[in-house]
Amino acid sequence: MDIQQERICIKCGNQMIKCYVADGFKGLLVKNPEGDGLFSNKKNTNINPFICTNCGFAEWYAEDPEKLK
Ligand SMILES: [Zn+2]
Repeated sequence: MDIQQERICIKCGNQMIKCYVADGFKGLLVKNPEGDGLFSNKKNTNINPFICTNCGFAEWYAEDPEKLK
């Protein structure tokens, strides 16, 4: 999924920038617990935070949200 690279902060209206966590350039891996019954849990995606450069508010977005279904 091609997500928008710039977002507007819902708290203060400033521009937010896409960041990444230091532990993994591709983002944090999250899994849908419903996928745990499968041989290997393929219901997963990476998430990355958008952070407001004014107030510091952070929002996380999944790179491939449809993979969690
Ligand atoms: Zn803000």
